[in-house]
Amino acid sequence: MRRMGSVRFVTYGCKANQYDTQVLREALVRRGWKEEDRGADLLVVNTCTVTAEAGRKARQLIRRAHREDPRTKICVTGCLAESEPEVLREMPGVEWVLGNGEAKQPVHFLRELGEEFTPEELGIPSGITEFSGHTRAFLKIQDGCDMACAFCIIPSVRGKSKSRPIPELVAEVERLAESGYVEIVLCGIHIGHWGRDLGLELADLVAALCAAAPRGARGRPCDFRLRLSSIEATEVSDRLLEVMARESRRVAPHLHMPLQSGDDEILAAMNRWYGVEEYLGHCDRIRSALDRPAFTADVLVGFCGEEDRHFERTLDTVRRAGFARLHVFPFSVRPGTAAEHLGAPPPPPLVRERRAALSELASELQVEYRRSLDGAEDSIVLEGAVGLSGRYQRVRVPLEELEGPLPPRVDVRLALERDAESGEERLVGHATANDRLEHAR
Ligand code: SF4
Repeated sequence: MRRMGSVRFVTYGCKANQYDTQVLREALVRRGWKEEDRGADLLVVNTCTVTAEAGRKARQLIRRAHREDPRTKICVTGCLAESEPEVLREMPGVEWVLGNGEAKQPVHFLRELGEEFTPEELGIPSGITEFSGHTRAFLKIQDGCDMACAFCIIPSVRGKSKSRPIPELVAEVERLAESGYVEIVLCGIHIGHWGRDLGLELADLVAALCAAAPRGARGRPCDFRLRLSSIEATEVSDRLLEVMARESRRVAPHLHMPLQSGDDEILAAMNRWYGVEEYLGHCDRIRSALDRPAFTADVLVGFCGEEDRHFERTLDTVRRAGFARLHVFPFSVRPGTAAEHLGAPPPPPLVRERRAALSELASELQVEYRRSLDGAEDSIVLEGAVGLSGRYQRVRVPLEELEGPLPPRVDVRLALERDAESGEERLVGHATANDRLEHAR
């Protein structure tokens, strides 16, 4: 194939997918490709298949892109390319269908596009150096999942859990911090299983990353913090909590722990491996190790067989867990999953009702959690006068209290204040210290 010049990327789905796109973006840009939003020679669509809707959107985009510019060659990669390669190959304009794993590695990917070179010639370090279009960088630490939740297609399109080695990840954290990213989110498909294939555990990695030593232009240490993305409550080990408590400025006290259902019968039907009391016990254990940690979670409503009594128990569990934020998803059967054989889910109007009730409870809990933070110390990654706290709260920082140029991150004491105009409660962060470290940005 003749060498093409410009490329456009479209990414669907999770943080791991966004990371994978960035790996490909950096590889192509290093080979001289230019990124363009319109009229690009090549369109790379990195797809998701976690819901039927995600697949539908990707196919729609491919059809539209071909209609608008039939000269654009289309490459489809990611989970949909694994789950329905034949359908995609038949679509007009689609030249390449490359799934996950090896197929998505830059060397393989570029060879498929007709670029011949050795990995050394490609000359990129493993991973990424920046995170295009984001203020926080995502770092994929593993891929794949060894579990088999009844609603989930991911294990069949991502394979078994495979961890990236510590030295590679430390080097990547240093590069990202030196590029100016003050928050690096550790992501993957099942990050709590990081290290199992290496004889290590996630606590080992987090400790090693905390000790990374990025340097700014004047040789001073670059500031950064880590945030764990989704991790199962059962996999937040005591060792991991020790590292998080010891490195409280380096690791955000926020854990996103999927709950999925707050009822034991539904959890068993989902083939989840814990019960409600066990989950809540982990919340208590984490609360006693960290200062006011933020718990966020995903809950699926309307799973097969979910009756009112199951849903009532879910409401109760969610209340007891005291989530800072909840992502509520209506369940839809994904073909190819075990849930396909579990009977019909509740009717859509009922699912909508339950979703609304759960979302309302989540909003109440969000307010309660925010109130509990009055007086807490935190650290804000700024985007103007508002930023993201370690505990995943939007916090306003009075800029007039800061001296010198605006730092990307500022340590604060949180205060619950009432907005003079709207009368609403909000968290304000009053700076405590902000000049200790080099900021690369
Ligand atoms: S743990 Fe369950 S929901 Fe998560 S990726 Fe694995 S199979 Fe899917």
